[in-house]
Amino acid sequence: MQTKSKLLLTVALMLLTLSAATIINVSLNFRDYSIQNAVDKAYLSATLVRDGLTAHMVSGTMNKREYFLEQISKNDNIKSVWISRGESVSKQYGNGFSTESPRDSIDEKVLESGTAIQKIIENTQMSLLRVTIPYKIDPKISNLDCLSCHDAQRGDTLGSVSMEFDISGMRNTGLLTIFKILGINILFLIIVLFLINRYATPYMQLFSSLQDGITKASHGDFTHKFLSNVGGDAQKVISQLNTLFAKMQETFGEIRYNLGTFIPKGHVSSNDPLYEAKTIIGELSDIYKFKKTIEHDSSKDMVFQRITDLLKTKYALNNFTFYEVNNILAQRTLIYSSDMGTICHDYVDKDAKQCRAHRTNIDVISSEFINLCQTCNAKELKYTCIPFNINNDSSIILSITSETEDEQNKVNSKIASIRNYLEAAKPVIESKILMDKLRDTSLRDGMTGLYNRRFLEEFIDKVMNQVKREKETYSVMMLDVDWFKMVNDTYGHDIGDKVIVEIGKVLKENIRSADLAIRYGGEEFVVLLHNASDEGTLEVAKKIHSAFGNLIFEVGAGESMQKTMSIGIAKFPHDGDTIWKCIKFADTALYVAKTTGRNKIVDYLKEMSESEATR
Ligand code: GH3
Ligand code: MG
Ligand code: MG
Repeated sequence: MQTKSKLLLTVALMLLTLSAATIINVSLNFRDYSIQNAVDKAYLSATLVRDGLTAHMVSGTMNKREYFLEQISKNDNIKSVWISRGESVSKQYGNGFSTESPRDSIDEKVLESGTAIQKIIENTQMSLLRVTIPYKIDPKISNLDCLSCHDAQRGDTLGSVSMEFDISGMRNTGLLTIFKILGINILFLIIVLFLINRYATPYMQLFSSLQDGITKASHGDFTHKFLSNVGGDAQKVISQLNTLFAKMQETFGEIRYNLGTFIPKGHVSSNDPLYEAKTIIGELSDIYKFKKTIEHDSSKDMVFQRITDLLKTKYALNNFTFYEVNNILAQRTLIYSSDMGTICHDYVDKDAKQCRAHRTNIDVISSEFINLCQTCNAKELKYTCIPFNINNDSSIILSITSETEDEQNKVNSKIASIRNYLEAAKPVIESKILMDKLRDTSLRDGMTGLYNRRFLEEFIDKVMNQVKREKETYSVMMLDVDWFKMVNDTYGHDIGDKVIVEIGKVLKENIRSADLAIRYGGEEFVVLLHNASDEGTLEVAKKIHSAFGNLIFEVGAGESMQKTMSIGIAKFPHDGDTIWKCIKFADTALYVAKTTGRNKIVDYLKEMSESEATR
């Protein structure tokens, strides 16, 4: 209901209540007053009739009493008048006229009690006031000596005088008065409502307009124009409000537009520019912090780890898989998979083009079409796969699974925001990829693909503390081809290079991922076996030794050759308290192998260093 209607209704109700209260009060008072007035008159009349009868009695004209009463009853307001004889009078003088016996119980009561009774008898046609007063032997009433004629005692009731008065006129006057008051009140009510309506309407319109404007503003809509017919200061305030709203609308429009350049539109589901600005600025600030953090991370893998953590914590994603794709080789590598595992067939790893999201570079949302992705092997789950290109060479794919439609809708509503983070991470990931590449080339030997000596130096620097703390062991092998110079000299450098490349392959094939193979010098190699037992170390050394020894090198003109190698072994921390020392001791053991016939594996012994010192 409008405020104005409410106000008018309230005023009307108040005035009507007031009017009803007044009418009830006035009518009750009026009735009491009128009745009292009529009763007084009735008693007076009845007393006069009684006195008249007394006069008749004294003057001996008592037989004319009927005429007297008849004359009295001719009065317009007097409906009837009669007298009743008391018991003592009836006994002494007989029953009198037939009309003089008690007519009803009131007469009887008055004769018996000697006290007056009054009663109002009302029906729809008329209102009657009945008064019956006693005719008593009472010197207070009359100083006549009643006892001289009557066989009675002082205080006895000789008879009664009853009169009925028509008081309908009084009732009608009362009703007329009530109607007049009601009429005046209704007229007053109409005038009041008219005036309120007339003077309050502009204020009410202004109030509604303010209400509308403020409601819209609370939802971020400042387009409302406040209109008012109220003049004076109110008009000034309205025009100031309009200016303020116009400014707000313009400013928020600009803020929204400018923020939109930082973050793609549509990810904040609100039309409220204030809320939108707050959310976008909050997100920009979070993204900025995220970007700053990953910039200081040491590798691409670390950044991927951070993205995984972000998806788990900020976006509360429980079931998802995170892949990196090598665009050139169309190969996909798993970065992270939640406990539930991947929903994608394994063969996609080798042929990333089979991944619909990767191939189309469009989000794949299972609810959009039945069996949308052919390579998904969990059809009962809902999936949302988001492809994201880092650069020409690599991209990433997020595959998020949900169990219910609701859950998937929630996931989908987060896509735009997740993309904002990926967009921010993109240049960082790109630079990390580049750094990793550069680092890899500077730390790897181009010919064999094995790590180089520089890597070994960095590696030892980095891991030494951890190795000591965790009580890890490394078996150090130093390998060197026997009589290699001869290969170069006899078959040329190309054949020599081929031998070196083959050593690289042999080493890679015979060590585990926790082990390291390093091209230490020309045809010298170092192998570090992580946490290997003495037997295990010897076994690996033998495998490498025999694998290389079994290689047959074509040297041209249908000829071929085979080569052997010597291996020296030292163990960290058993033989030396640093890996460098152990490398040196492995070299000592290698020297012993070389000087004692070559093509053999020799474990380092302390004595070797002693004899080396005397060498
Ligand atoms: P020994 O059994 O004592 O080891 O005899 P060796 O002839 O193998 O002697 P040494 O290990 O000292 O020989 C190293 C030779 O390896 C010297 C160098 O000409 C050759 N060499 C070093 N780097 C390369 C390379 O990259 N390619 C080729 N083809 N030869 C290399
Ligand atoms: Mg050699
Ligand atoms: Mg050598």
